[in-house]
Amino acid sequence: MTSEPLDVAIVGAGPAGMAAAIALRARGMSVAVFDEQPSPGGQIYRNVLKAGRDRRAAILGPDYVAGLDLAERFMACGADYKSRATVWRIGEDGLSWSSPQGGGDCAARRVLVATGAMERPFPVEGWTLPGVMTAGAAQILIKTSGAVADDAVFIGCGPLLYLVVYQYLQAGVRVRALLDTAEPGNRIKAALHLPGAIAAPSYLVKGVKLLAAIRRAGIAVHRNVSSVALVGEGRLSAVRWTDASGSHELSCERAFLHQGIVPNANITMAARCAHRWNERQLSWQPVIDGSGRTNLDWLSIAGDLGGIGGARAAELSGEIAAVAIANDFGRGAGRDHAAPRLRRARELLVRPFLDVLYRPRDGMRQPRLDDVIICRCEEVRRRDVAAAAAQGCPGPNQLKAFTRAGMGPCQGRLCGLTVGETLAGLREETPAQAGYFRIRMPIKPVTVGDIAGLSTTQGDQGS
Ligand SMILES: Cc1cc2nc3c(=O)[nH]c(=O)nc-3n(C[C@H](O)[C@H](O)[C@H](O)COP(=O)(O)OP(=O)(O)OC[C@H]3O[C@@H](n4cnc5c(N)ncnc54)[C@H](O)[C@@H]3O)c2cc1C
Repeated sequence: MTSEPLDVAIVGAGPAGMAAAIALRARGMSVAVFDEQPSPGGQIYRNVLKAGRDRRAAILGPDYVAGLDLAERFMACGADYKSRATVWRIGEDGLSWSSPQGGGDCAARRVLVATGAMERPFPVEGWTLPGVMTAGAAQILIKTSGAVADDAVFIGCGPLLYLVVYQYLQAGVRVRALLDTAEPGNRIKAALHLPGAIAAPSYLVKGVKLLAAIRRAGIAVHRNVSSVALVGEGRLSAVRWTDASGSHELSCERAFLHQGIVPNANITMAARCAHRWNERQLSWQPVIDGSGRTNLDWLSIAGDLGGIGGARAAELSGEIAAVAIANDFGRGAGRDHAAPRLRRARELLVRPFLDVLYRPRDGMRQPRLDDVIICRCEEVRRRDVAAAAAQGCPGPNQLKAFTRAGMGPCQGRLCGLTVGETLAGLREETPAQAGYFRIRMPIKPVTVGDIAGLSTTQGDQGS
Protein backbone atom coordinates (compact mmCIF):
# COMPACT_ATOMS: atom_id res chain seq x y z
CA MET A 1 0.00 0.00 0.00
CA THR A 2 1.54 3.26 -1.10
CA SER A 3 -1.03 6.00 -0.41
CA GLU A 4 -1.18 8.05 2.80
CA PRO A 5 -3.13 5.99 5.31
CA LEU A 6 -6.55 7.09 6.49
CA ASP A 7 -7.09 7.49 10.21
CA VAL A 8 -9.73 4.76 10.49
CA ALA A 9 -11.18 2.10 8.17
CA ILE A 10 -14.54 0.78 9.40
CA VAL A 11 -16.01 -2.59 8.41
CA GLY A 12 -19.82 -2.55 8.60
CA ALA A 13 -22.39 0.23 8.16
CA GLY A 14 -24.89 -0.98 10.77
CA PRO A 15 -25.81 1.11 13.81
CA ALA A 16 -22.34 0.61 15.34
CA GLY A 17 -20.30 1.39 12.23
CA MET A 18 -22.47 4.38 11.26
CA ALA A 19 -22.35 5.90 14.77
CA ALA A 20 -18.58 5.41 14.91
CA ALA A 21 -18.10 7.10 11.53
CA ILE A 22 -20.24 10.09 12.57
CA ALA A 23 -18.33 10.49 15.85
CA LEU A 24 -14.92 10.19 14.18
CA ARG A 25 -15.82 12.65 11.44
CA ALA A 26 -17.12 15.11 14.07
CA ARG A 27 -13.58 15.03 15.47
CA GLY A 28 -12.09 15.82 12.07
CA MET A 29 -10.69 12.36 11.36
CA SER A 30 -10.44 10.70 7.94
CA VAL A 31 -12.70 7.66 7.71
CA ALA A 32 -13.74 5.07 5.12
CA VAL A 33 -16.66 2.70 5.74
CA PHE A 34 -17.04 -0.60 3.84
CA ASP A 35 -20.23 -2.64 3.78
CA GLU A 36 -21.34 -5.47 1.55
CA GLN A 37 -24.93 -4.25 1.44
CA PRO A 38 -26.07 -1.81 -1.26
CA SER A 39 -27.15 0.80 1.32
CA PRO A 40 -26.35 1.61 4.94
CA GLY A 41 -28.33 0.31 7.92
CA GLY A 42 -26.94 -3.08 8.88
CA GLN A 43 -29.27 -5.92 9.80
CA ILE A 44 -31.87 -3.94 11.72
CA TYR A 45 -32.03 -0.83 9.48
CA ARG A 46 -31.42 -2.68 6.21
CA ASN A 47 -32.49 -0.52 3.25
CA VAL A 48 -33.99 2.05 5.66
CA LEU A 49 -33.26 5.06 3.43
CA LYS A 50 -35.78 3.60 0.96
CA ALA A 51 -38.06 1.23 2.89
CA GLY A 52 -38.31 3.62 5.86
CA ARG A 53 -40.21 6.04 3.66
CA ASP A 54 -42.74 3.75 2.00
CA ARG A 55 -45.48 1.29 3.03
CA ARG A 56 -42.90 -1.02 4.58
CA ALA A 57 -42.32 1.54 7.37
CA ALA A 58 -45.75 0.76 8.86
CA ILE A 59 -45.08 -2.98 8.65
CA LEU A 60 -41.58 -2.87 10.12
CA GLY A 61 -42.51 -0.45 12.90
CA PRO A 62 -41.03 2.55 14.73
CA ASP A 63 -37.85 0.74 15.86
CA TYR A 64 -36.99 0.29 12.19
CA VAL A 65 -37.90 3.81 11.09
CA ALA A 66 -35.77 5.15 13.98
CA GLY A 67 -32.78 4.16 11.82
CA LEU A 68 -33.63 6.77 9.17
CA ASP A 69 -32.16 9.64 11.14
CA LEU A 70 -28.94 7.71 11.88
CA ALA A 71 -28.55 6.61 8.25
CA GLU A 72 -29.11 10.17 7.00
CA ARG A 73 -26.59 11.60 9.45
CA PHE A 74 -24.15 8.90 8.37
CA MET A 75 -24.59 9.72 4.67
CA ALA A 76 -23.96 13.41 5.44
CA CYS A 77 -21.00 12.93 7.82
CA GLY A 78 -18.29 13.01 5.15
CA ALA A 79 -16.98 9.47 5.59
CA ASP A 80 -15.93 7.73 2.37
CA TYR A 81 -18.71 5.13 2.24
CA LYS A 82 -18.21 2.14 -0.04
CA SER A 83 -21.33 0.05 -0.56
CA ARG A 84 -21.38 -3.51 -1.95
CA ALA A 85 -17.80 -3.74 -0.70
CA THR A 86 -16.96 -7.04 0.98
CA VAL A 87 -13.95 -6.82 3.24
CA TRP A 88 -11.95 -10.04 2.99
CA ARG A 89 -8.77 -9.08 4.82
CA ILE A 90 -7.85 -6.81 7.70
CA GLY A 91 -4.42 -6.15 9.12
CA GLU A 92 -2.32 -3.52 10.85
CA ASP A 93 -1.84 -1.78 7.49
CA GLY A 94 -5.60 -1.48 6.79
CA LEU A 95 -7.89 -3.76 4.82
CA SER A 96 -8.73 -5.27 1.44
CA TRP A 97 -12.16 -5.45 -0.13
CA SER A 98 -13.85 -6.67 -3.26
CA SER A 99 -16.96 -5.40 -5.02
CA PRO A 100 -18.72 -5.88 -8.36
CA GLN A 101 -16.92 -2.76 -9.59
CA GLY A 102 -13.53 -4.07 -8.52
CA GLY A 103 -11.88 -4.01 -5.14
CA GLY A 104 -8.69 -2.82 -3.63
CA ASP A 105 -6.75 -2.03 -0.52
CA CYS A 106 -7.39 0.76 1.96
CA ALA A 107 -4.41 1.88 4.00
CA ALA A 108 -5.50 2.91 7.50
CA ARG A 109 -3.85 3.51 10.86
CA ARG A 110 -6.72 1.87 12.73
CA VAL A 111 -9.38 -0.66 11.78
CA LEU A 112 -12.76 -0.68 13.53
CA VAL A 113 -14.74 -3.85 12.89
CA ALA A 114 -18.52 -3.63 13.32
CA THR A 115 -19.69 -6.71 11.42
CA GLY A 116 -22.64 -7.29 13.76
CA ALA A 117 -24.47 -10.55 14.17
CA MET A 118 -25.72 -13.49 12.14
CA GLU A 119 -28.37 -16.08 12.86
CA ARG A 120 -27.35 -19.13 14.87
CA PRO A 121 -27.44 -22.35 12.84
CA PHE A 122 -30.54 -24.51 13.49
CA PRO A 123 -29.44 -28.00 12.41
CA VAL A 124 -32.56 -30.16 12.59
CA GLU A 125 -33.73 -32.94 10.28
CA GLY A 126 -34.64 -31.46 6.87
CA TRP A 127 -33.33 -27.94 7.54
CA THR A 128 -31.66 -27.85 4.12
CA LEU A 129 -34.85 -28.62 2.14
CA PRO A 130 -36.10 -26.04 -0.36
CA GLY A 131 -38.96 -24.18 1.34
CA VAL A 132 -37.04 -23.88 4.61
CA MET A 133 -35.36 -20.55 5.36
CA THR A 134 -34.43 -18.56 8.43
CA ALA A 135 -36.74 -15.97 9.99
CA GLY A 136 -34.00 -13.40 9.42
CA ALA A 137 -34.02 -14.21 5.71
CA ALA A 138 -37.82 -13.78 5.68
CA GLN A 139 -37.36 -10.37 7.26
CA ILE A 140 -34.64 -9.42 4.76
CA LEU A 141 -37.14 -10.13 1.97
CA ILE A 142 -39.63 -7.68 3.50
CA LYS A 143 -37.00 -4.99 4.02
CA THR A 144 -35.41 -5.24 0.59
CA SER A 145 -38.32 -6.03 -1.68
CA GLY A 146 -41.53 -6.21 0.37
CA ALA A 147 -41.82 -9.94 -0.40
CA VAL A 148 -43.67 -12.22 2.07
CA ALA A 149 -44.82 -15.86 2.18
CA ASP A 150 -48.38 -16.85 3.11
CA ASP A 151 -49.06 -19.77 5.46
CA ALA A 152 -45.52 -20.24 6.69
CA VAL A 153 -44.72 -22.03 9.94
CA PHE A 154 -42.31 -20.18 12.24
CA ILE A 155 -40.15 -22.43 14.41
CA GLY A 156 -37.67 -21.73 17.19
CA CYS A 157 -37.13 -19.14 19.87
CA GLY A 158 -35.81 -15.63 20.44
CA PRO A 159 -37.09 -12.07 20.14
CA LEU A 160 -36.42 -11.89 16.39
CA LEU A 161 -38.70 -14.87 15.69
CA TYR A 162 -41.62 -13.17 17.44
CA LEU A 163 -40.77 -9.82 15.83
CA VAL A 164 -40.92 -11.26 12.31
CA VAL A 165 -44.26 -12.98 13.05
CA TYR A 166 -45.55 -9.63 14.31
CA GLN A 167 -44.27 -7.85 11.19
CA TYR A 168 -46.05 -10.48 9.07
CA LEU A 169 -49.27 -9.73 10.95
CA GLN A 170 -48.77 -6.02 10.33
CA ALA A 171 -48.43 -6.83 6.65
CA GLY A 172 -51.71 -8.76 6.73
CA VAL A 173 -50.00 -12.06 5.86
CA ARG A 174 -51.43 -15.38 7.11
CA VAL A 175 -49.16 -17.28 9.50
CA ARG A 176 -49.87 -21.00 9.74
CA ALA A 177 -48.40 -21.74 13.18
CA LEU A 178 -45.65 -20.80 15.58
CA LEU A 179 -43.69 -23.61 17.24
CA ASP A 180 -41.83 -22.30 20.28
CA THR A 181 -38.83 -24.49 21.11
CA ALA A 182 -37.74 -22.72 24.31
CA GLU A 183 -37.62 -24.95 27.39
CA PRO A 184 -40.22 -24.11 30.05
CA GLY A 185 -37.43 -24.22 32.67
CA ASN A 186 -35.90 -21.14 30.98
CA ARG A 187 -38.68 -18.99 32.41
CA ILE A 188 -37.87 -19.90 35.98
CA LYS A 189 -34.15 -19.31 35.46
CA ALA A 190 -34.85 -16.02 33.63
CA ALA A 191 -36.99 -14.78 36.53
CA LEU A 192 -33.77 -14.34 38.52
CA HIS A 193 -32.75 -11.68 36.01
CA LEU A 194 -36.12 -9.93 35.97
CA PRO A 195 -35.06 -7.06 38.27
CA GLY A 196 -32.42 -5.99 35.72
CA ALA A 197 -34.93 -6.24 32.89
CA ILE A 198 -37.52 -4.20 34.81
CA ALA A 199 -34.92 -1.46 35.24
CA ALA A 200 -34.99 -1.10 31.41
CA PRO A 201 -38.73 -1.66 30.90
CA SER A 202 -39.10 -0.62 27.24
CA TYR A 203 -38.00 -4.06 25.99
CA LEU A 204 -40.45 -5.85 28.26
CA VAL A 205 -43.29 -3.57 27.20
CA LYS A 206 -42.46 -4.21 23.55
CA GLY A 207 -42.29 -7.96 24.13
CA VAL A 208 -45.65 -8.05 25.88
CA LYS A 209 -47.16 -6.03 23.01
CA LEU A 210 -45.84 -8.48 20.41
CA LEU A 211 -47.08 -11.52 22.29
CA ALA A 212 -50.51 -9.94 22.84
CA ALA A 213 -50.83 -9.11 19.13
CA ILE A 214 -49.88 -12.67 18.17
CA ARG A 215 -52.44 -14.07 20.63
CA ARG A 216 -55.16 -11.68 19.36
CA ALA A 217 -54.47 -12.76 15.78
CA GLY A 218 -55.39 -16.32 16.76
CA ILE A 219 -52.20 -17.89 15.41
CA ALA A 220 -51.76 -21.46 16.62
CA VAL A 221 -48.85 -21.27 19.06
CA HIS A 222 -47.39 -24.62 20.21
CA ARG A 223 -45.05 -24.27 23.18
CA ASN A 224 -42.43 -26.52 24.72
CA VAL A 225 -41.57 -28.11 21.38
CA SER A 226 -38.77 -30.54 22.15
CA SER A 227 -37.98 -31.96 18.68
CA VAL A 228 -38.58 -30.78 15.12
CA ALA A 229 -38.28 -32.50 11.74
CA LEU A 230 -38.87 -30.87 8.37
CA VAL A 231 -39.98 -33.47 5.86
CA GLY A 232 -40.62 -33.69 2.14
CA GLU A 233 -39.49 -35.29 -1.11
CA GLY A 234 -37.29 -32.73 -2.85
CA ARG A 235 -38.96 -29.82 -1.03
CA LEU A 236 -40.73 -29.14 2.24
CA SER A 237 -44.20 -30.63 2.57
CA ALA A 238 -44.72 -30.95 6.33
CA VAL A 239 -43.31 -30.23 9.74
CA ARG A 240 -43.33 -32.87 12.50
CA TRP A 241 -42.75 -32.02 16.11
CA THR A 242 -43.01 -33.35 19.62
CA ASP A 243 -44.29 -31.39 22.60
CA ALA A 244 -45.71 -32.22 26.02
CA SER A 245 -48.95 -33.45 24.41
CA GLY A 246 -47.24 -35.90 22.02
CA SER A 247 -46.21 -36.02 18.34
CA HIS A 248 -47.80 -33.86 15.67
CA GLU A 249 -47.60 -33.21 11.94
CA LEU A 250 -48.70 -30.18 9.96
CA SER A 251 -48.51 -29.94 6.19
CA CYS A 252 -46.79 -26.77 4.97
CA GLU A 253 -44.70 -25.52 2.07
CA ARG A 254 -42.65 -22.94 3.92
CA ALA A 255 -40.97 -22.90 7.31
CA PHE A 256 -38.84 -20.18 8.88
CA LEU A 257 -36.32 -21.26 11.51
CA HIS A 258 -34.64 -19.12 14.12
CA GLN A 259 -32.91 -19.67 17.44
CA GLY A 260 -31.16 -16.43 18.18
CA ILE A 261 -28.23 -14.49 16.81
CA VAL A 262 -24.49 -14.72 17.44
CA PRO A 263 -21.51 -12.44 16.77
CA ASN A 264 -20.28 -12.46 13.18
CA ALA A 265 -16.68 -12.98 14.26
CA ASN A 266 -14.96 -14.64 11.29
CA ILE A 267 -12.97 -11.57 10.39
CA THR A 268 -11.66 -10.93 13.91
CA MET A 269 -10.91 -14.65 14.30
CA ALA A 270 -8.87 -14.50 11.08
CA ALA A 271 -7.04 -11.44 12.41
CA ARG A 272 -5.91 -13.63 15.36
CA CYS A 273 -7.56 -11.30 17.84
CA ALA A 274 -8.23 -13.00 21.22
CA HIS A 275 -11.72 -14.54 21.55
CA ARG A 276 -13.56 -16.22 24.40
CA TRP A 277 -16.53 -18.53 24.69
CA ASN A 278 -19.55 -16.78 26.24
CA GLU A 279 -21.56 -19.51 27.96
CA ARG A 280 -24.62 -17.29 28.50
CA GLN A 281 -24.84 -16.26 24.86
CA LEU A 282 -23.48 -19.62 23.67
CA SER A 283 -21.07 -18.04 21.20
CA TRP A 284 -17.48 -17.02 20.58
CA GLN A 285 -16.81 -13.32 20.85
CA PRO A 286 -13.72 -11.08 20.76
CA VAL A 287 -12.16 -10.08 24.07
CA ILE A 288 -12.59 -6.31 24.35
CA ASP A 289 -12.34 -3.62 26.98
CA GLY A 290 -15.11 -1.10 27.73
CA SER A 291 -14.02 1.01 24.73
CA GLY A 292 -13.94 -1.79 22.18
CA ARG A 293 -10.15 -2.17 22.22
CA THR A 294 -8.79 -5.65 21.50
CA ASN A 295 -5.44 -7.25 22.32
CA LEU A 296 -4.21 -5.91 18.93
CA ASP A 297 -3.37 -2.22 19.13
CA TRP A 298 -4.56 -1.49 15.58
CA LEU A 299 -7.96 -3.16 15.97
CA SER A 300 -11.12 -1.99 17.73
CA ILE A 301 -14.58 -3.52 17.78
CA ALA A 302 -18.09 -2.13 18.15
CA GLY A 303 -21.64 -3.44 18.12
CA ASP A 304 -23.05 -6.96 18.31
CA LEU A 305 -19.73 -8.45 17.22
CA GLY A 306 -18.46 -7.73 20.73
CA GLY A 307 -21.48 -9.52 22.29
CA ILE A 308 -25.17 -9.39 21.39
CA GLY A 309 -26.65 -6.22 22.87
CA GLY A 310 -29.19 -4.92 20.34
CA ALA A 311 -29.26 -1.95 18.00
CA ARG A 312 -29.24 0.89 20.51
CA ALA A 313 -26.37 -0.63 22.49
CA ALA A 314 -24.55 -1.18 19.18
CA GLU A 315 -24.96 2.46 18.19
CA LEU A 316 -23.67 3.63 21.58
CA SER A 317 -20.72 1.22 21.47
CA GLY A 318 -19.80 2.66 18.06
CA GLU A 319 -19.74 6.14 19.55
CA ILE A 320 -17.72 4.95 22.58
CA ALA A 321 -15.15 3.11 20.44
CA ALA A 322 -14.82 6.14 18.14
CA VAL A 323 -14.19 8.52 21.03
CA ALA A 324 -11.57 6.15 22.44
CA ILE A 325 -9.79 6.00 19.05
CA ALA A 326 -9.99 9.77 18.72
CA ASN A 327 -8.49 10.12 22.21
CA ASP A 328 -5.64 7.79 21.20
CA PHE A 329 -4.98 10.09 18.23
CA GLY A 330 -5.13 13.14 20.52
CA ARG A 331 -8.32 14.31 18.79
CA GLY A 332 -10.96 13.54 21.42
CA ALA A 333 -12.05 14.65 24.87
CA GLY A 334 -11.97 11.87 27.44
CA ARG A 335 -15.12 13.02 29.20
CA ASP A 336 -17.22 12.34 26.07
CA HIS A 337 -17.29 8.69 27.17
CA ALA A 338 -19.43 9.10 30.25
CA ALA A 339 -22.92 9.69 28.85
CA PRO A 340 -22.92 7.00 26.13
CA ARG A 341 -21.37 4.51 28.54
CA LEU A 342 -24.16 5.05 31.05
CA ARG A 343 -26.87 4.81 28.37
CA ARG A 344 -25.30 1.65 26.98
CA ALA A 345 -25.09 0.03 30.40
CA ARG A 346 -28.83 0.73 30.79
CA GLU A 347 -29.56 -0.84 27.40
CA LEU A 348 -27.66 -3.97 28.39
CA LEU A 349 -29.59 -4.49 31.64
CA VAL A 350 -32.21 -6.58 29.82
CA ARG A 351 -29.72 -8.96 28.14
CA PRO A 352 -29.24 -11.56 30.90
CA PHE A 353 -33.03 -11.95 31.09
CA LEU A 354 -33.42 -12.36 27.32
CA ASP A 355 -30.38 -14.64 26.97
CA VAL A 356 -31.67 -17.04 29.62
CA LEU A 357 -35.33 -16.89 28.57
CA TYR A 358 -34.51 -17.67 24.94
CA ARG A 359 -31.54 -20.00 25.45
CA PRO A 360 -31.86 -22.53 22.59
CA ARG A 361 -32.14 -26.20 23.57
CA ASP A 362 -28.99 -28.31 23.59
CA GLY A 363 -30.59 -30.83 21.21
CA MET A 364 -31.33 -28.13 18.63
CA ARG A 365 -27.77 -26.81 18.65
CA GLN A 366 -26.09 -30.22 18.76
CA PRO A 367 -28.16 -32.59 16.60
CA ARG A 368 -28.91 -35.98 18.12
CA LEU A 369 -29.92 -37.84 14.94
CA ASP A 370 -27.10 -39.28 12.86
CA ASP A 371 -28.61 -38.26 9.55
CA VAL A 372 -28.83 -34.52 10.27
CA ILE A 373 -26.55 -32.38 8.10
CA ILE A 374 -24.10 -30.27 10.10
CA CYS A 375 -21.94 -28.72 7.36
CA ARG A 376 -24.21 -27.79 4.46
CA CYS A 377 -21.41 -26.96 2.01
CA GLU A 378 -19.73 -30.37 2.29
CA GLU A 379 -22.83 -32.36 3.33
CA VAL A 380 -21.16 -33.59 6.49
CA ARG A 381 -23.68 -35.34 8.73
CA ARG A 382 -23.76 -35.85 12.45
CA ARG A 383 -22.73 -39.48 11.96
CA ASP A 384 -19.50 -38.36 10.23
CA VAL A 385 -18.62 -36.11 13.15
CA ALA A 386 -19.47 -38.88 15.64
CA ALA A 387 -17.27 -41.35 13.72
CA ALA A 388 -14.38 -38.88 13.74
CA ALA A 389 -14.83 -38.25 17.48
CA ALA A 390 -14.80 -42.01 18.07
CA GLN A 391 -11.48 -42.21 16.19
CA GLY A 392 -10.01 -39.62 18.54
CA CYS A 393 -10.44 -36.40 16.52
CA PRO A 394 -9.52 -33.78 19.14
CA GLY A 395 -11.07 -30.58 17.74
CA PRO A 396 -12.75 -28.66 14.89
CA ASN A 397 -9.52 -28.08 12.96
CA GLN A 398 -8.61 -31.73 12.90
CA LEU A 399 -12.24 -32.50 11.95
CA LYS A 400 -11.56 -30.74 8.64
CA ALA A 401 -9.04 -33.45 7.77
CA PHE A 402 -11.36 -36.22 8.99
CA THR A 403 -14.58 -35.03 7.29
CA ARG A 404 -14.09 -31.77 5.30
CA ALA A 405 -16.54 -30.01 7.65
CA GLY A 406 -15.96 -26.26 7.34
CA MET A 407 -13.93 -26.66 4.12
CA GLY A 408 -16.63 -25.53 1.65
CA PRO A 409 -17.33 -22.09 0.18
CA CYS A 410 -18.62 -20.63 3.47
CA GLN A 411 -15.44 -21.73 5.24
CA GLY A 412 -17.27 -22.65 8.43
CA ARG A 413 -19.27 -19.42 8.76
CA LEU A 414 -22.55 -21.39 8.89
CA CYS A 415 -21.46 -24.61 10.59
CA GLY A 416 -18.69 -23.44 12.92
CA LEU A 417 -20.80 -23.27 16.07
CA THR A 418 -22.59 -26.56 15.36
CA VAL A 419 -19.31 -28.35 14.65
CA GLY A 420 -17.67 -27.03 17.83
CA GLU A 421 -20.63 -27.71 20.11
CA THR A 422 -21.38 -31.14 18.62
CA LEU A 423 -17.79 -32.26 18.88
CA ALA A 424 -17.59 -30.90 22.42
CA GLY A 425 -20.77 -32.81 23.33
CA LEU A 426 -19.44 -36.04 21.84
CA ARG A 427 -16.10 -35.67 23.63
CA GLU A 428 -17.80 -34.58 26.86
CA GLU A 429 -15.93 -31.28 26.81
CA THR A 430 -17.06 -27.67 26.94
CA PRO A 431 -17.14 -25.72 23.65
CA ALA A 432 -14.36 -23.57 25.09
CA GLN A 433 -12.21 -26.71 25.47
CA ALA A 434 -13.13 -28.01 22.01
CA GLY A 435 -12.15 -24.67 20.43
CA TYR A 436 -13.10 -23.24 17.04
CA PHE A 437 -11.97 -23.43 13.43
CA ARG A 438 -8.72 -21.59 12.74
CA ILE A 439 -10.11 -19.02 10.28
CA ARG A 440 -7.88 -17.66 7.53
CA MET A 441 -8.03 -14.70 5.17
CA PRO A 442 -9.66 -14.28 2.73
CA ILE A 443 -12.70 -14.60 4.95
CA LYS A 444 -15.12 -14.41 2.00
CA PRO A 445 -14.78 -15.75 -1.55
CA VAL A 446 -12.90 -13.25 -3.71
CA THR A 447 -11.61 -13.22 -7.25
CA VAL A 448 -8.02 -14.05 -8.06
CA GLY A 449 -7.80 -10.53 -9.53
CA ASP A 450 -8.72 -8.98 -6.19
CA ILE A 451 -6.13 -11.03 -4.36
CA ALA A 452 -3.47 -10.26 -6.93
CA GLY A 453 -4.27 -6.55 -6.55
CA LEU A 454 -5.07 -6.31 -10.26
CA SER A 455 -8.34 -4.43 -9.78
CA THR A 456 -8.86 -0.81 -8.79
CA THR A 457 -6.82 -0.01 -5.73
CA GLN A 458 -5.85 3.06 -3.71
CA GLY A 459 -6.56 5.40 -6.57
CA ASP A 460 -10.31 5.36 -5.96
CA GLN A 461 -10.25 5.80 -2.20
CA GLY A 462 -11.59 9.28 -2.33
CA SER A 463 -14.23 8.64 -5.00
C1 LIG B 1 -30.93 -11.32 10.04
C2 LIG B 1 -31.01 -10.40 11.23
C3 LIG B 1 -32.09 -9.54 11.38
C4 LIG B 1 -32.19 -8.70 12.48
N1 LIG B 1 -33.28 -7.90 12.60
C5 LIG B 1 -33.43 -7.14 13.71
C6 LIG B 1 -34.59 -6.35 13.90
O1 LIG B 1 -35.49 -6.32 13.07
N2 LIG B 1 -34.70 -5.65 15.05
C7 LIG B 1 -33.71 -5.66 15.99
O2 LIG B 1 -33.85 -4.99 17.03
N3 LIG B 1 -32.57 -6.36 15.81
C8 LIG B 1 -32.42 -7.11 14.71
N4 LIG B 1 -31.30 -7.87 14.56
C9 LIG B 1 -30.22 -7.72 15.52
C10 LIG B 1 -29.39 -6.54 15.01
O3 LIG B 1 -28.59 -7.00 13.96
C11 LIG B 1 -28.46 -5.91 15.95
O4 LIG B 1 -28.89 -5.75 17.25
C12 LIG B 1 -27.91 -4.58 15.43
O5 LIG B 1 -28.22 -4.34 14.10
C13 LIG B 1 -26.41 -4.65 15.59
O6 LIG B 1 -25.81 -3.59 14.95
P1 LIG B 1 -24.32 -3.70 14.44
O7 LIG B 1 -23.97 -2.37 13.90
O8 LIG B 1 -23.47 -4.28 15.49
O9 LIG B 1 -24.33 -4.78 13.27
P2 LIG B 1 -25.25 -5.01 12.00
O10 LIG B 1 -26.47 -4.19 12.03
O11 LIG B 1 -25.40 -6.47 11.88
O12 LIG B 1 -24.34 -4.46 10.81
C14 LIG B 1 -23.20 -5.15 10.41
C15 LIG B 1 -22.89 -4.75 8.98
O13 LIG B 1 -21.63 -5.30 8.65
C16 LIG B 1 -21.67 -5.68 7.30
N5 LIG B 1 -20.64 -6.70 7.11
C17 LIG B 1 -20.48 -7.87 7.78
N6 LIG B 1 -19.38 -8.52 7.34
C18 LIG B 1 -18.85 -7.73 6.37
C19 LIG B 1 -17.70 -7.84 5.54
N7 LIG B 1 -16.85 -8.88 5.61
N8 LIG B 1 -17.47 -6.87 4.63
C20 LIG B 1 -18.31 -5.81 4.54
N9 LIG B 1 -19.40 -5.64 5.31
C21 LIG B 1 -19.65 -6.59 6.21
C22 LIG B 1 -23.08 -6.20 7.08
O14 LIG B 1 -23.46 -6.09 5.73
C23 LIG B 1 -23.90 -5.29 7.98
O15 LIG B 1 -24.44 -4.22 7.26
C24 LIG B 1 -31.17 -8.71 13.45
C25 LIG B 1 -30.07 -9.57 13.31
C26 LIG B 1 -29.99 -10.41 12.21
C27 LIG B 1 -28.80 -11.33 12.09
